[in-house]
Amino acid sequence: MARPALRLPSNAPGAFYVDSTCIDCGTCWQWDPHHFAPTGDSSHVVHQPEGEPEIAQALLALQACPVAAIGATPELLRHTPAEGFPALLFSHPAGAVHYCGWASRKSFGASSYLVVRPQGNVLIDSPRFNGHLARRIEALGGLAAIVLTHRDDVADHDRWAAEFGCERWIHQADADAAPEAERLVEGHAPVALDTQLRLIPTPGHTAGSMVALLGEQILFSGDHLWWSPAQQAVVASRTYCWWDWPSQVASVERLRDLDVRWLLPGHGDRHPFEPGAWGPAIDCTLAYCRGLAAG
Ligand code: SF4
Repeated sequence: MARPALRLPSNAPGAFYVDSTCIDCGTCWQWDPHHFAPTGDSSHVVHQPEGEPEIAQALLALQACPVAAIGATPELLRHTPAEGFPALLFSHPAGAVHYCGWASRKSFGASSYLVVRPQGNVLIDSPRFNGHLARRIEALGGLAAIVLTHRDDVADHDRWAAEFGCERWIHQADADAAPEAERLVEGHAPVALDTQLRLIPTPGHTAGSMVALLGEQILFSGDHLWWSPAQQAVVASRTYCWWDWPSQVASVERLRDLDVRWLLPGHGDRHPFEPGAWGPAIDCTLAYCRGLAAG
C-alpha cells in the first residue's frame, strides 16, 4: 500500500499520488501517460484524473504498479474496475492482443501480454499472479501455452502454469531461470508453435533472449527492442545488454526483413508501424547500434 507520508512532493495536488517506494519501472506512464510521467529517477502524477473514465484508467495504473507505490483515497479505491485487466489493446486476424497489467517486482514491472485465439490462448511473459486476473483469463478461455522471452521476465510462471496446466516455452540458454519449463528452444533456428506463432532466438540482451512473432506482423520483443518516444525510434540498449552486445546487434539485423505492424516489448513503449515502415526503422536502429559499437 502506498503511504501518504511518503508522497513525492512533485505530484500534482489531489487524490492520486506516487510515493517514494517507486522503482521507476515505467508501468504507470506507459499505461496512462495523461496522468503519470517520469521525473528522471521515479514517476509522479502530472495531472489528476477527472471524471469516471480517467479515474478508472488511473486506478488500473495503480493496480498494475509492481510495488504498490501509487496511492489514492479509500473512496476512489472502491471504484477500481473489477474487469480491467487483461485489457484489449487491439484485435488482429491472428488473435486478440491484451495487456495483462498486474506487473511483477520480480521482472522489474515488465509488461506481459495475453493473446486470445482459436488455436489456444498464449501468455507472453509472466504477470504477477493474481486471482482476479486468473478468473478473467479463465473466462477468456484459459491458457494453452506460456512463452518466456528471456530469463528476466519469468516472474510467477510456475503459478500460472499450475493454474492452467499449460506448457511453458523458454530458450535453453536461459532455462535455468525456469527449470520446470516443458518446452525448450535450442540454437538460432526459429520454432513454429503453429502456423500463426513463431519464436525467433535473438541472443544478446541475454544468451537465451527470443522474440515471438504472431501472424507475421505482431512482434513481442521482450527486452531485445522497444520504442522510444523521446528518440522516435526503435531502440536496443547497450546499457541494459546483460550478455553480448555484438550478438544483440546481429539479432536486431535478423528481424530487419519482417513486416512488423506492432512492437510490443517487455519494457519501454508499445508502437504501431505503417506497412513498409519497419525495415527503415530497423535500418536506423542498426546505424545507431553500429555507431555505439564503433565508439
Ligand atoms: S508503476 Fe509504480 S513503480 Fe513503476 S514507475 Fe509507476 S509508480 Fe513507479
